[in-house]
Amino acid sequence: MFQTPDPILAAFTAQKARVAERRRNFGLAERRAVLAKLAAAIRDNEAALVAACAADLGRPEAETILIEYLTVLQDIRHARSHLWAWMRPRWVAPTLASFGSTARIEVQPRGVCLVIAPWNLPFALAMGPVISALAAGNAVMLKPSELTPATSALMARLVAETLPADLCTVIEGDKAVAERLLALPFDHIFFTGSPAVGKIVMAAAAKHLTSVTLELGGKSPVIVGEGADLERAADWITFGKFLNAGQVCIAPDHLFVHVSVKDRFLTLLRARIAKAYGSGAASPHLSQIVSEAHAARLAEVLADAVAKGAEPILNAGAKGRAMGPVLVEAITPEMRLDQEEIFGPILPILSYDDLGQVIDRINARDKPLALYVFDRDQGRIDRILGETTSGGVGINLTLVQFSHANLPFGGVNTSGIGAGHGVTGFRAFSHERAVLRNRFLMLPLIFPPYGPRVMRLIGVIKRVLG
Ligand code: NAD
Repeated sequence: MFQTPDPILAAFTAQKARVAERRRNFGLAERRAVLAKLAAAIRDNEAALVAACAADLGRPEAETILIEYLTVLQDIRHARSHLWAWMRPRWVAPTLASFGSTARIEVQPRGVCLVIAPWNLPFALAMGPVISALAAGNAVMLKPSELTPATSALMARLVAETLPADLCTVIEGDKAVAERLLALPFDHIFFTGSPAVGKIVMAAAAKHLTSVTLELGGKSPVIVGEGADLERAADWITFGKFLNAGQVCIAPDHLFVHVSVKDRFLTLLRARIAKAYGSGAASPHLSQIVSEAHAARLAEVLADAVAKGAEPILNAGAKGRAMGPVLVEAITPEMRLDQEEIFGPILPILSYDDLGQVIDRINARDKPLALYVFDRDQGRIDRILGETTSGGVGINLTLVQFSHANLPFGGVNTSGIGAGHGVTGFRAFSHERAVLRNRFLMLPLIFPPYGPRVMRLIGVIKRVLG
């Protein structure tokens, strides 16, 4: 009897079958055309995207347009205008050992790539890597998150209507589908999600020695120093912490404020939050929590902190998936709030008077994806930059380092391996092939038999190298 073919394997096999053909035919003009088609389809689906994100995340229209729609259109525009420069072979200078040759680096597509995406920016964090993969000349399979079904279905339709499946296809599904995909020998995997699942992805990739880019998460600190413009800091921290209801990988997770400015800063912060979102849980300017389970997790994390002595100084309450901003003081290491990535609209506030202790605390924990500093004192800013590490840093701002197309975006170790965006994303999906060409007949001088001529040449090289 006939067996039903496995659709995942069939899609993968169809993409693999055209790798060599794509190497020949999927050049600059074709890639730019594919990206233009995708941009046109996205423009046609702006309202559908706003509706999908509203269904999945209770998200205000302005937020979806800013962080999903415009972000992806900018990614495409940037890739289309710089692709010729990214794709160009780069000639490199000869070295002593390769005298008589010419050398260049050619940028090749990796082949067939897998993108696994999270739910928090379900469109931008899925389509961003897909755009980089296509710009680099690959075929790509996208597995979006099962927690945002409306946006995942929209991407599946949009991609199916715009691109051939043997170039790009969306495979919807949950963890089980991701596991089946991960069993296949992809040429590169670009995963965005939690550090825990990142480890599973890396272990699966190791079975085929598939290269990986892991965009992970963690607890990103923000430091408000004694020299900060407190009003501006309150503006930026309100925006950065409560955009998408705090469900942003680079949202400030917790805040250190210098004791000398703490009271004034907290007054300004509370006023800024009230101006943005009013006083209740349900604001039309605030996204909702992605699922009942995640809303319950946040409620539990907050209850655990309060039971262990934390003091909420602002709590706008929660109703179903709607959760208002929460500010909490008196945090201790026993609390889940201090241990887990919060990924919601709760901001723990810690005060300090010795910057060295804040730096030691940051360095004692997992390397953060983002670190934010608010201060006008260059000496203190330089000290923080010099003595810590993180995926990226925002000085006197939050979040917008994500949307700078000329900056790499990625973490360090537990917050990520490798990076994406712009040319960095293009390179993540490319193989840099070394091409060395023999021009003159110099290199054969080292061939055996190793007579006096070879030894003389070795002597010359030794003298040059000191
Ligand atoms: P997640 O790790 O739970 O899920 C991400 C993806 O992995 C989903 O598509 C999911 O279906 C899939 N998945 C889940 N379990 C799997 C398994 N066992 N094997 C294979 N695939 C599996 O992450 P999430 O909850 O969707 O997103 C939140 C996390 O992502 C946070 O930690 C956040 O910081 C991080 N994040 C990082 C970035 C970044 O760019 N660095 C961006 C957004 C989110």
